[in-house]
Amino acid sequence: MLYKSTRGNTEVVNSYEAILKGLCDDGGLFVPVTFPTTKLNLSEMISYSYKEISSVILNLFFDDFSKEEIDSIVSKSYDNKFSCDDIISLKTIDNMTFMELYHGPTSAFKDMALSVLPNLMTYSMNKVSENKEIVILTATSGDTGKAALEGFSNVDGTKIIVYYPENGVSDTQRIQMVSQEGSNVKVFGIDGNFDDAQRAVKDIFTDDEIKASMLSHNKVFSSANSINIGRLVPQIIYYVYSYIQLVKNKTISLGDAVNIVVPCGNFGNILSSYYASKLGIPVNKFICASNTNNVLTDFFNTGEYDRNRDMFCTVSPSMDILVSSNLERYLYEISDNDEDFVKASMNSLQATGKYQVSDAYRDKLSKFYGGFCDDTNTLNAIGDMYKAHDYLMDTHTAVAYKVYIDYVKKTGDTTQSLIASTASPYKFSNAVLKGLGCCTEGMSDFDMMDKLNEITSVKIPSNLYGLRNKTRIHNDVINRSDIKENLKEYLKLGE
Ligand SMILES: *Cc1c(COP(=O)(O)O)cnc(C)c1O
Repeated sequence: MLYKSTRGNTEVVNSYEAILKGLCDDGGLFVPVTFPTTKLNLSEMISYSYKEISSVILNLFFDDFSKEEIDSIVSKSYDNKFSCDDIISLKTIDNMTFMELYHGPTSAFKDMALSVLPNLMTYSMNKVSENKEIVILTATSGDTGKAALEGFSNVDGTKIIVYYPENGVSDTQRIQMVSQEGSNVKVFGIDGNFDDAQRAVKDIFTDDEIKASMLSHNKVFSSANSINIGRLVPQIIYYVYSYIQLVKNKTISLGDAVNIVVPCGNFGNILSSYYASKLGIPVNKFICASNTNNVLTDFFNTGEYDRNRDMFCTVSPSMDILVSSNLERYLYEISDNDEDFVKASMNSLQATGKYQVSDAYRDKLSKFYGGFCDDTNTLNAIGDMYKAHDYLMDTHTAVAYKVYIDYVKKTGDTTQSLIASTASPYKFSNAVLKGLGCCTEGMSDFDMMDKLNEITSVKIPSNLYGLRNKTRIHNDVINRSDIKENLKEYLKLGE
């Protein structure tokens, strides 16, 4: 399968080049030149394990890899890193099935793809003849950073540099990152928000001067953000797996449509579910849930994307994003691959901070429902759910749950719904405890974890429990305008 840019330049690459590059030369995102047209044989896949489904999906999109290579990537990616038997865990309450995607090494759903990406990259490197060092630049709103650090730590031939908003992540998220060990890792706090970090990283990727100087030092950049196609494809797997499990345990019949509910930030997770539907998973509605940073809600309601607004720091910080990068791939979808439209929209976003979907493509948006939930309702949702069903959700999952409840009230839709549960409640103990009505004043994050455990008896994930014994290794906090110069210095590009 070949890949090309959403913005229409003529660069066409195979899958391992797309994985290694991350971002296209014209700033666009890699998409398949021809999306797979054969539908998955779901009735045959009914007995497949998570790993077997992974092999099917990865083979489909990355067909330059042999079947043996894919099987080996799959087994390396998932072995021993996940604390539940079949990688994810499903919990059905009434019409809702929560897909718990957070049982990996860093307790957020980013592990689902970031356990796979480093293996895809090292196998990709072996396929290109030159032996350059890959420098992974990652902007994070909190969870990608740690999952990427964990995935790439001590991986030969790579270096990973993470930028996080110093004041825009939870204490647990910060400790997770700044205590990261590994000979090839570096973590910087920045004095801006996630969008500032993401913009700086994208600028560096398309800066010809830095790229040339990287080449002369035998280095090349890549991305572990969800703009990398090597992140999106592994995320298709759990939608296929979860649908099949619902059929298997007779919650639905094969062929029944489901709703898919996702707490959205960069739009990568929900886009993967859209790709799953293109492969044959029947979907009634895609429900895109946002917090107070509700650019996506407005987009689905009005057809206008407008980032000209203040960013709020919320209790669901991994969704504190105003520019959802993967929406670009969705524009490409709704416009039937109209590259000129995508390019014009992205140019407009760059120049004015907004763009409008033309009427011709407007009705395509109706497969999606956009809604949002503020912090008060998020905390209430955590308390309500726990009281009613003894089920503990993190803040991001709670946003999705509340938006789903609002949707059901509005529409009366009783379709079985898959809700992406994207983080362990212990990553956001402070807000979760408040949702349960507890005062957290004066408590450290570790006191809070213990308190939450005492109240709910939900086990603390061992990676989060172990943080209390870690020390801060990475101390640098830099100005957002210095990111580029700082990077040149760190990589010794001037020498
Ligand atoms: C990253 C993240 C999200 C948002 O996912 P996107 O793919 O960026 O839309 C939601 N919840 C949690 C916990 C996350 O880490």
